Amino acid sequence: KLHNTILELKGNIRVFCRVRPLLPDDSADTVVSFPTSTEALGRGIELVQSGQKYNFTFDKVFNHEASQQDVFVEISQLVQSALDGYKVCIFAYGQTGSGKTYTMMGRPDEPDLKGLIPRSLEQIFQTSQSLKDQGWRYTMQASILEIYNETIRDLLLTNRSSDHARTENSASSKQYTIKHDANGNTHVSDLTIKDVCSADEISSLLRQAAQSRSVGRTQMNEQSSRSHFVFTLRISGKNENTEQQVQGVLNLIDLAGSERLSRSGATGDRLKETQAINKSLSSLSDVIFALGGKKEDHVPFRNSKLTYLLQPCLGGDSKTLMFVNVSPDQSSTGESLCSLRFAARVN
Ligand code: ADP
Ligand code: MG
Repeated sequence: KLHNTILELKGNIRVFCRVRPLLPDDSADTVVSFPTSTEALGRGIELVQSGQKYNFTFDKVFNHEASQQDVFVEISQLVQSALDGYKVCIFAYGQTGSGKTYTMMGRPDEPDLKGLIPRSLEQIFQTSQSLKDQGWRYTMQASILEIYNETIRDLLLTNRSSDHARTENSASSKQYTIKHDANGNTHVSDLTIKDVCSADEISSLLRQAAQSRSVGRTQMNEQSSRSHFVFTLRISGKNENTEQQVQGVLNLIDLAGSERLSRSGATGDRLKETQAINKSLSSLSDVIFALGGKKEDHVPFRNSKLTYLLQPCLGGDSKTLMFVNVSPDQSSTGESLCSLRFAARVN
């Protein structure tokens, strides 16, 4: 395996913070600033709430001026390591509207604005091509799913209408049971797995997934922010000269909005949904926290679908990066502080 020195300096968990620009609909005041002292430069963020200052330091802090390319430059090495056989997870965490989807997906059709999913995939295919000279042959498989209310939905299911018919007849026809084998590979029963040979092919799968996400949804925007979006690329490489083999995985995850809904007095479905999100986000935090503490014997992977699904890709010699996305406006102060505290806990 090649060595990714930056990431091996301090464990395998990194936290990057990204603050989006103020938007026209925001309250006009920004409550975050970026300390410029030598030790905090590019790593510090200060938030003011009711006259009280809160300071946080992360592995990297991107301010409102950071471009998609500025962000990608800082993760490209991590993405690359999936070709060396590492298991990689990149998460976007934050309240709805804080820039998670902008960071992960961006605007895929606009070269300057595309996010780190399209950029990562382009880089992976480009690099795998250039490694051909050294004898490397790669095969890749993609799957895209979402987890909503602790239930997996396959976003690459092609024949949606027949799926609807089937679910009406027997709701249990697709169980999406998660199993891990002895080699650390994850199998989700019934999940669509696509062989992919180019970034363009993946782009069309991502478009299909986006469409599938909206089908059957009455309040699409509402619900998509209430589910976790999980893109997985499995990478198998074999070197024809040396017979060396590698198996890497790249997981790119746009998490459900982290906002607390208790004060809105949620009831019924809404309450169930909120509880499911709280449970999976707190399980994720517990798992990453336990891994950071090197207490790998007692990691509560099974407490949520998300952490169980990703179990082989969290811990061990896998690499995890969490983006905490923050809205800078005054009315988001409470949620921003919660997000920063969450991120500080796992960092
Ligand atoms: P989330 O996925 O967390 O709900 P979005 O990614 O949809 O949030 O972002 C909310 C809004 O803010 C969108 O209109 C998006 O285009 C805009 N936005 C987010 N981050 C940035 C950024 N870094 N630069 C410019 N606009 C951004
Ligand atoms: Mg989003």
